[in-house]
Amino acid sequence: MIRSKDPNIKTSVFAVMSKMANDYNAVNLSQGFPDFGVSEELIALVNKYMNAGFNQYAPMPGVFELRKKLSAKIQKLYNHIYNPETEITITAGGTQALHSTISTIINEGDEVLIFEPAYDSYAPVVRLNGGRPVYVRLKYPNYSVDWDAVNRMVNSKTRLIILNSPQNPSGKIFTDEDLQSLKKVVVGTKILILSDEVYEHIIFDGKEHNSIAKYPELAERSILVFSFGKMYHATGWKLGYFAAPEKITEEIRKIHQFTVFAANTPIQYAVAEFLDKEEEYLQLPNFYQKKRDFFNGMLKDTGFEIIPAGGTYFQTVNFSSLTDETDFQLAERLTKKFGIAAIPMSSFFHNEENTKTLRFCFAKTEEVLKQAAEKLDIFYSQAKKQLNLF
Ligand code: PMP
Ligand code: GLN
Repeated sequence: MIRSKDPNIKTSVFAVMSKMANDYNAVNLSQGFPDFGVSEELIALVNKYMNAGFNQYAPMPGVFELRKKLSAKIQKLYNHIYNPETEITITAGGTQALHSTISTIINEGDEVLIFEPAYDSYAPVVRLNGGRPVYVRLKYPNYSVDWDAVNRMVNSKTRLIILNSPQNPSGKIFTDEDLQSLKKVVVGTKILILSDEVYEHIIFDGKEHNSIAKYPELAERSILVFSFGKMYHATGWKLGYFAAPEKITEEIRKIHQFTVFAANTPIQYAVAEFLDKEEEYLQLPNFYQKKRDFFNGMLKDTGFEIIPAGGTYFQTVNFSSLTDETDFQLAERLTKKFGIAAIPMSSFFHNEENTKTLRFCFAKTEEVLKQAAEKLDIFYSQAKKQLNLF
């Protein structure tokens, strides 16, 4: 028998719920991925580069043309210059950037602050590297940060704080005030910041993304992670990147090279060329806000309480007035009996706390969102009968 380093790691809830949705032929609003196509022009560019013979290994840190374009993009949007040669690295998705970063930085006994609810890719990697996740609870329902609590949790063992804005699953946006507070916590310490910004372009209500790159005192100790999966509706392409100061990048690349060596070549060339079309990603806030409003408009009549979100393609809802079930029981019943799959929010808490909330992904066509709402409506009618609410 093998002795796993962390036998308690469970299969990711996204794999579990997507399989359940497929097995029961349910509308799948669980795992986050768009159901609309990648731009035909971008696909044609990938083909072009494949046909032109760009099919061998890319340079280890990534195709230079792509790194140059990304450096220019970050400078234009967030006013910070990353040297494309030494400070930008292309990875096999955001996931690999997160994994390589945490594996590089975290040693036995190091503590890592994680805001909960949290995306599921952070804590397992911290533990695999001998680190200890320390959880800071975001305050329900607006998911605000108690910075006094953060201050109390920081000590000489704290090595890393992981930030995710816009945040999966809550949709919370870290405000300028949050980042000023963060600055007070970390300046003068050895603490680094891992800033997961994969939803940088999915932000609503006219807000601007507060990239860590905009804050020089934070940027100098931060690793920023991005993903083309979110930018181009291409989660299956698994292409992402990270930006970090040279000294930090140098170390992370040592791990990156023995994780994947380099990411997919023809897609890197294609994306480099496609990045010239800024409107492709600059129109995303508008595109996704319409989807959110369309979905929430229908959700309003289904008895679920909508918890406002500032970004991401997720909507969380509270169902405590509808049933006494746990979120996992309800997610399972909705999938198997009503044909609509969601993610139980307890999956994003280390103690699997039942917060009576679910997460829906609304990165879907209007037709699919309508189908989902119809199914939730049927559930609501039955729930009302059971609760004698009609
Ligand atoms: N971070 C967050 C918060 C995410 O939601 C995701 C994917 N949904 C990732 C990282 C991983 O990105 P990728 O799919 O490019 O690996
Ligand atoms: N990040 C996506 C989500 O939150 C899923 C990614 C995955 O399946 N690992 O649903």
